[in-house]
Amino acid sequence: MLNREVAVLRIGHRLVRDDRTTTHAILVSRAFGCNTMYMTDVDEEIKNTINKVNDSWGGLNEFKLEIIDNWKKLIKEWKEKQGKIIHLTMYGLQINEVIDEIKIIGQKILVIIGAEKVPKEIYFLSDYNISIGNQPHSEIAALAIFLDRLFEGKQFDRRFSGGKMKIIPSDKGKTVIRKKK
Ligand code: SAM
Repeated sequence: MLNREVAVLRIGHRLVRDDRTTTHAILVSRAFGCNTMYMTDVDEEIKNTINKVNDSWGGLNEFKLEIIDNWKKLIKEWKEKQGKIIHLTMYGLQINEVIDEIKIIGQKILVIIGAEKVPKEIYFLSDYNISIGNQPHSEIAALAIFLDRLFEGKQFDRRFSGGKMKIIPSDKGKTVIRKKK
């Protein structure tokens, strides 16, 4: 399942929210098995944050962030390349009802989340509109749960190449190996 290409498109950026929300959406995409994250309405500077994370913890070859200005074009291109579009929304079909069908999709997947209310068109351009429960919560929580169900936890076995540091999981304290240059 991890061999399949999964990308995330986040539409919009709420000015009243701090940049941490944007950063967290990127970090979850990276840590939960996605290859690419596309974002609209964000500053190029956000790339420095993810570059620093990839530099420290690895992932330059595994994950990239792309800032785009035309999400319709991206969706069109994705569809032309036979990708499936999955939009996460509280109004969609319950994840428990559709996840088995999603898991056997052979094509690559583009997962759409909104920073706020998304344009109505997204509901019709998407192949699936899926809810993580039918209550409003957060795009980051929705994304994390969707990816975990899709990858069945195996995303945590993914290796991130390069990087200056590596964590050795331990039951107490912090064990970190610092790689020599
Ligand atoms: N009315 C929105 C909706 O359609 O889900 C809630 C807006 S919320 C601030 C921003 C994003 O969080 C949404 O665009 C959606 O991607 C995600 N989201 C929030 N609650 C969700 C839920 N229960 N299931 C799936 N996605 C959710």
